[in-house]
Amino acid sequence: MLTIDGSMGEGGGQILRTSLALSLVTQEPFRIQRIRAGRKKPGLRRQHLTAIKAAQTIAKARVTGADLGSQQITFEPGAVSAGDYLFDVGTAGSTTLVLQTVLLALLLAPAESRLVLRGGTHNPAAPPFEFIHKAYLPLLARMGLQATASLLRPGFYPAGGGEIEVHIQPSRGSRRPLVLTERGAVRQIRAKAMVSALPGHIGQRELKVIGRAFDLSPEELDLVEVAQPSGPGNAVHLEVVCQHVTELFTGFGERGVPAERVASHVIDQARSYLESNGAVGPHLADQLLLPMVITGGGTFTTSTPTRHTLTNFQPIEQFCRIQVDVRPLEGERHRIDLEMRGETP
Ligand code: ATP
Repeated sequence: MLTIDGSMGEGGGQILRTSLALSLVTQEPFRIQRIRAGRKKPGLRRQHLTAIKAAQTIAKARVTGADLGSQQITFEPGAVSAGDYLFDVGTAGSTTLVLQTVLLALLLAPAESRLVLRGGTHNPAAPPFEFIHKAYLPLLARMGLQATASLLRPGFYPAGGGEIEVHIQPSRGSRRPLVLTERGAVRQIRAKAMVSALPGHIGQRELKVIGRAFDLSPEELDLVEVAQPSGPGNAVHLEVVCQHVTELFTGFGERGVPAERVASHVIDQARSYLESNGAVGPHLADQLLLPMVITGGGTFTTSTPTRHTLTNFQPIEQFCRIQVDVRPLEGERHRIDLEMRGETP
């Protein structure tokens, strides 16, 4: 049984999710200690427990220690079964992080799966639904991994109550390594502001600031006022469609923070992406590593790798025989190569 140190690098929940995802695809059992030791409230929270439960369910795994606040679990997977599954976080915890825990294993299963995930769909510090739909899954499709996601109901922190549905096709025969070194010319920039149980002017003000910054036309600015909201929330997405890749940057409204400041934060993220000349931004960079493990590695360029990305290499290297190489190019631009040294799971 592998032993994973949950306090390595930034010591967050990603080490646990990466370990679960790779244990499912490699069928290697593991023990993880000091879970989320680097966080203010260490140990398992609802989102992590749901991720463990989801991984346990699809692989009839034997699990010990999976309790709220626990800092150690053991996980012994059985064979993964495709199927129809409902996973409910029960709070506003992120549904997309739960999805990423089981997605790879279900893509490798021999039959189609359908998942319904309930909880938060638009959480600060997690991929919002639009990012999964517009940026992450299209890149997986490029790697021969076929999954589609739809937003049934948005759920914002702290009320939750959101729901997404994901259809996953078996992809064993169609996998290919990712090669994404250039993003190509920018083809379109557009923005969408979502307001849930809050005044529409919040979204309008965000769109005005973004529209001015990138010289966007009214057709490129979309205000969505959530019908039948489950609680208050606001998110603004800026989509940058390039020849070879689509990136998506998000800002979340917060009490006491003016809408204009939320918009400026999104503008800064997009500008720093465009200036870095990397093919993908910092979030895609850390999230592409796992799918690359099951498609035979590959290469991409990005801005200076975040601590989150560097931390994610470590559990991956423990589960799989791979060589990861991070090379600085010009300016902020870096190239990340992931080379399989053993068999692709
Ligand atoms: P915790 O210990 O609380 O579980 P964590 O270390 O698992 O935290 P984070 O580092 O906060 O979690 O990030 C979780 C994931 O969410 C990362 O893959 C990160 O790239 C992704 N993420 C965060 N914000 C965004 C965003 N705005 N768009 C896309 N992905 C995001």
